[in-house]
Amino acid sequence: MTNDKCTNKINTIIKAYSEEGAIETAAKILQDGGLVAFPTETVYGLGGNALNPEASAKIYAAKGRPSDNPLIVHIADTSAVYELAEDVSEKAVYLMEAFWPGPLTIIFNKKEVVPYETTGGLSTVAIRMPSHDAALKMIRESGLYIAAPSANLSGRPSPTLAEHVIEDLNGRIDMILDGGPVGIGIESTIVDMSTETPTILRPGYITKNMLENIIGHVEIDKALTCPDPSIRPKAPGMKYTHYAPKGSLAIVEDLNTPLASQAVIDKINNLVREKTAEGFKVAVLTTKDNSEKYKCDNILLLGEKAEGTTVASHLYAKLRECDALGIDFIYSESFNRDELGGAIMNRLLKAAGHCVITV
Ligand code: AMP
Ligand code: MG
Repeated sequence: MTNDKCTNKINTIIKAYSEEGAIETAAKILQDGGLVAFPTETVYGLGGNALNPEASAKIYAAKGRPSDNPLIVHIADTSAVYELAEDVSEKAVYLMEAFWPGPLTIIFNKKEVVPYETTGGLSTVAIRMPSHDAALKMIRESGLYIAAPSANLSGRPSPTLAEHVIEDLNGRIDMILDGGPVGIGIESTIVDMSTETPTILRPGYITKNMLENIIGHVEIDKALTCPDPSIRPKAPGMKYTHYAPKGSLAIVEDLNTPLASQAVIDKINNLVREKTAEGFKVAVLTTKDNSEKYKCDNILLLGEKAEGTTVASHLYAKLRECDALGIDFIYSESFNRDELGGAIMNRLLKAAGHCVITV
């Protein structure tokens, strides 16, 4: 990286993480203050030394990320929490024991060693121990704590394949470790343990019920459930329109059922017919169960409705596919808001700018 506007292209090394020497090369780049994109079980992350303010600044520059949007610090051993955070509560320890390594990010009060450049100016720090072999090996080999947001350009869907990282960041970062498709496909659950009542700031694979089974009552940040734009989300990143495809996305929903009823299918087919007749390129986001019911040239399958995990793992890749196909209008079915469905709907609603057509 040569300047903070990334106008000068750099030569990005791209290697499979299993290739001999790849992890060592990545670790060396991180030690030298450079940036490496790496696979985790949620999405690909863009890593730099979390305790080096210049490395954090490079992450913001490479992504075009607003500098008030803090980075998550990735660790490979629980002992690291006590180096980075103050006031680690008993409940937080129970969560670490139950869900790490895994897709849960915990917010703590930060220690002085963590620079404000990494926390977007906040006095708290977000910490997570990923469960992907490549991430753990790279963090251990570097001997560092790794600040890593998702490895996409700001505003684009998070990357679930190395190809997505290449699309967005080739020539802007030092290295990409290719680990193939990620497992989960949406970002970690974030829970704030720095305040009296544990609060979910971002829904994810680890659900409210799963957290409550371990530590009792957990709140959900009001800004996530209430459409009032004057309520600011506590995770600064949640206020930005994220994940948005270039085409206009609308969710078509039957208020009586989260399943795609006949009314939803009819409405989507009507909208497709109208927009196609006007000369636009149109796509439908659906699941295997319903794919035959639509008449559209571009039917994109998110997996199987009954299995939230297959839907989560396909969502971002399908939004990117809409861009690659040059789609103008995208119509999506909605999903059950329970458990993992809640996290999927959170991402889908953000991608749609909350455009919901009800039938
Ligand atoms: P990403 O790494 O792209 O998944 O984004 C990280 C998310 O974590 C963003 O939504 C941030 O706003 C949020 N985050 C990171 N650190 C903190 C913190 N200290 N307090 C609240 N939210 C945080
Ligand atoms: Mg992100």
